[in-house]
Amino acid sequence: MRQPAQPKSVWYERLTKAAAYSLPEIPIILAALIFTHSRGLQRSVGTIASYYPYAMFGAGLLLGWRFHRSRLLFALLVLALADRSLLSLVASHGFTRDHVAFQAIAFLLPLNLAALALTAERGVFTSPGLVRLGIILGQVALVTILERGAPGPAAALLHARLLPPSLFAWTPLADPALLAFLVAAGLMGAAQLLSPTSTGRSFCWSLLPAFLGLSAVRPGNAGFSTFYLATSALILIIAVVEASYHMAYQDSLTGLPARRALNEALLRLGSQYTVGMVDVDHFKRINDSHGHDVGDQVLKMVAAKLAQVGGGGRAYRYGGEEFAVIFPGKGAEECLPELEAMRKVVEDAKFILRSRIRSKRKREKILTEKGPGKRVPVTVSIGVAERDNRHSKPDQVVKAADRALYRAKDGGRNQVQT
Ligand code: GH3
Ligand code: MG
Ligand code: MG
Repeated sequence: MRQPAQPKSVWYERLTKAAAYSLPEIPIILAALIFTHSRGLQRSVGTIASYYPYAMFGAGLLLGWRFHRSRLLFALLVLALADRSLLSLVASHGFTRDHVAFQAIAFLLPLNLAALALTAERGVFTSPGLVRLGIILGQVALVTILERGAPGPAAALLHARLLPPSLFAWTPLADPALLAFLVAAGLMGAAQLLSPTSTGRSFCWSLLPAFLGLSAVRPGNAGFSTFYLATSALILIIAVVEASYHMAYQDSLTGLPARRALNEALLRLGSQYTVGMVDVDHFKRINDSHGHDVGDQVLKMVAAKLAQVGGGGRAYRYGGEEFAVIFPGKGAEECLPELEAMRKVVEDAKFILRSRIRSKRKREKILTEKGPGKRVPVTVSIGVAERDNRHSKPDQVVKAADRALYRAKDGGRNQVQT
């Protein structure tokens, strides 16, 4: 008897899962640190590295414009303004740590990044967008005025002692700027814990190269500040690309991988696999009697149950109230108990409907899994097919599973058919 190709596919699953959760920011920041600390690297790729900030700025502008990512555009503006001001500061004054403009930039940069991370995407040429632009340019004016008009009091304020000096002697940033970084990181970190997004995560990580960039400025020498600020931009750019990838491959309602991901996964399968097509029974009735919002909640909860399928199966949203589960390296016989268990989990789940009175006019219905209320019975029918000589192409296997699904529906629903 032939051994199923299970070990390979299990590892494949594990690797793709690990890649999905891995952070691209860590290797990027490590690479930047290695570059700034290795003379040899700087000598060999120094010329290319000098184009790096322009490449990031150009790529970010294009991406922000084409993908309508105003926060990326504003972040690029903030980073570019900080960079140009630092360079002109070093060129004209030789830079000292006491410089008002330096501490002001170091204070404002993290707060601006945090403000962008914590607010919504609102466009550039819209009134919220123009307000943001005004605030950013207003800060440039403020820093200029402070530096020219009141250097003494501003310097006193920006150098106020707030932290133990022994801890932060290694960075030219004074305590208010350090605190601004800490507050920004704390706010963004908390927001990430409450509702993680790839944009929020990238803004959070972009603080680190920004901090390293400001810390790299030395008397008479801008150090690697531009290089690090460009690295902040790179992190933000990658997050936009990643978010777009997820939009294409992930279903936004259920969080399951979407049809496009299923189609690609089907092409990667080997010579043995099983497909289960899952369809919610009488879903139209649920929609008709409780409303479309409750229907959506049912889909989300069913999807969460399907995602827990065992036996190396992976659930996808096929479309509407239909889902697909694929089992790489497995025959149908092996998968039936898993699918049967999954069907039972959905049948036994308590989808309980309650009315939540939010405002006087809007009575919102919500589904929970606990507590009193009216139970909404939800079941699924499942059709199963495996790859064999008659059905050797993925779309043929899917069609065969679909035919089995019809038999499950005809047979009275809430059942698994092969
Ligand atoms: P059967 O047991 O034969 O599958 O009956 P059914 O009512 O589930 O089948 P049918 O295919 O006729 O109805 C599917 C309904 O699912 C129609 C559509 O309005 C609804 N639907 C599709 N996608 C969504 C969605 O994303 N959200 C909600 N709330 N409803 C959806
Ligand atoms: Mg259907
Ligand atoms: Mg249905």
